[in-house]
Amino acid sequence: MPTPIISKRAPIYADVPDEKWNDWRWQLSHRLNSAEDIEKVLSLTESERRALQKQDLFRVDVTPYYISLIDPNDPNDPVRKQIIPVSEEMDAFTSMMEDSLAEDRHSPVPGLVHRYPDRVLMLVTTQCASYCRYCTRSRIVGDPGQTFNRQDFEMQIEYLKRTPQVRDVLLSGGDPLVLAPKILEELLTRLREIPHIEIVRIGSRVPVFMPMRITQELCDMLAKFHPLWLNIHVNHPNEISTELAEACDRMSRAGIPLGNQSVLLAGVNDCVHLQRELVQKLTRIRVRPYYLYQCDLVEGAGHFRTPVAKGIEIIEGLRGHTSGYAVPQFIVDAPGGGGKIPVMPNYMLSMSDHKMIVRNYEGYVTTYEEPTEYQSHDPKTCKFCQNKRPEPGQTGLTGLLDGEQMFIKPHGFDELHNRDGVQHRLKDESKWKPLGIGSGETD
Ligand SMILES: *Cc1c(COP(=O)(O)O)cnc(C)c1O
Repeated sequence: MPTPIISKRAPIYADVPDEKWNDWRWQLSHRLNSAEDIEKVLSLTESERRALQKQDLFRVDVTPYYISLIDPNDPNDPVRKQIIPVSEEMDAFTSMMEDSLAEDRHSPVPGLVHRYPDRVLMLVTTQCASYCRYCTRSRIVGDPGQTFNRQDFEMQIEYLKRTPQVRDVLLSGGDPLVLAPKILEELLTRLREIPHIEIVRIGSRVPVFMPMRITQELCDMLAKFHPLWLNIHVNHPNEISTELAEACDRMSRAGIPLGNQSVLLAGVNDCVHLQRELVQKLTRIRVRPYYLYQCDLVEGAGHFRTPVAKGIEIIEGLRGHTSGYAVPQFIVDAPGGGGKIPVMPNYMLSMSDHKMIVRNYEGYVTTYEEPTEYQSHDPKTCKFCQNKRPEPGQTGLTGLLDGEQMFIKPHGFDELHNRDGVQHRLKDESKWKPLGIGSGETD
């Protein structure tokens, strides 16, 4: 194993031998989690110290590698804010929720979230290498008592075996890459035995918190389970170190396509120019920006929230201004289990018959003439139309477009619009009398 170049270490780690520093097990076992530990690296603000003294605080843990990325003289350092708690975490806000994405309601078995027709989210551990203060799953993450056991795992596998519409399994948690290598390998082996599972994805912040975990050995093991995709989670250009770049290079060489999911966070990355630098740096290390998330309505994250407009402004500043590959999709994960909803600036300004008026990123307004003669393809002879898989209850607007359904009604719609017995009247018009007109009758 060639030793990676060490670009940055906090002074207290100056004498740690390279073999230890570059050993992910050493990084995990030397994580910092108390005010006393952290003070050795940074002088804490009053708000940070108060938070660290709280008993029921969401778990704190920082790897020596990651805390070394912080500028100790900057109380507003963007890496520091992601990982060191502040007292504002205790503040409640309107619409705050414990499980804002209603994941528990979508779990047919513990730890498996089946929200979309063809893919599932599989929570394989509650442990992470370090803990993001804005964690959307802080209700379970970090708590060793809530971690998934062997029996949960067998139930997850059983569910997947008997659910053939699932073709994509997304491993998350917690962080799947903190699992013991043998366990991770077994998990992937068991998933690969299920024929209808076409792709496996891993969501992991380990490359960012502990890039030394991405050894060649790990990459070789992962490469046995292709097609395997991996999303990392980088929020700020300061997190793109030489070590992270090398870890990404090893994964890319192992044939793993890399994406990035970041969260829009006030005081961390809520700047269009910062975001442009971030996405360009990511593409340089062959990581494709995938999603930029609006911060969830989760407990402890109130002080990180921005208006949705900030995300729109960021996309406005990226699309057209830089490589299309570098532009993520801005996503609001709808509270209450609505799922991921893309939002973006409007580029379509108006339409008439055969004509669309659009504007580009520069504000240039132009016309696209649509064809006057268009023969739509024939679904009766199209083999893809014949083979389409049913998605009970989830066809959505595509079901309206292809004529399967005429409308989608909100819950309670029929009852609301039937309060005067409208259906009854429509069936038998003769019984209908105008309400209270002239006669004073109200039926
Ligand atoms: C995010 C998520 C997925 C994956 O969504 P993609 O848009 O396909 O990346 C799947 N299931 C759940 C429950 C999710 O939250």
